Amino acid sequence: MEYRKKIVLRFSSRTWDKPLVYRLAREFNLQFNILKAIILPRQEGLMVMELAGTEEDYHRGVEYLLSKGVSVEPIESDIMRDEEQCVHCGACTAVCPTGALHVDRESMEVLFDPERCVACELCLKTCPTRAMRASF
Ligand code: SF4
Ligand code: SF4
Repeated sequence: MEYRKKIVLRFSSRTWDKPLVYRLAREFNLQFNILKAIILPRQEGLMVMELAGTEEDYHRGVEYLLSKGVSVEPIESDIMRDEEQCVHCGACTAVCPTGALHVDRESMEVLFDPERCVACELCLKTCPTRAMRASF
């Protein structure tokens, strides 16, 4: 039976340039679909991808990435914003890697676009009012 999961990979500047991801297909028979790849400040890389294969190959592939120093987190949550709690301070826009949280230049309000959210959860710790939440 096919096993399919969305994961977030975080690479240090040391591991970013290595073709680790392509080895998932070659050595572990996994299909991957890169949904987003971003270089964060300080040259760290963040990649969101969907992996598909057998459950055994999935776990072998993830273990391989971990052994190479890549952080792997499954995406199991939906991110929501509590509109009543948001004070539009803008702190979250500095950490959101995809622009899902962004300032509207006309109203100067912080907007949240769930379509662009990759559930990396960076905004959760940054938000001073805890307006950003993950639901499982
Ligand atoms: S950090 Fe929190 S309160 Fe500030 S704009 Fe973002 S969601 Fe709103
Ligand atoms: S979880 Fe927060 S920081 Fe991450 S992409 Fe979604 S809105 Fe942006």
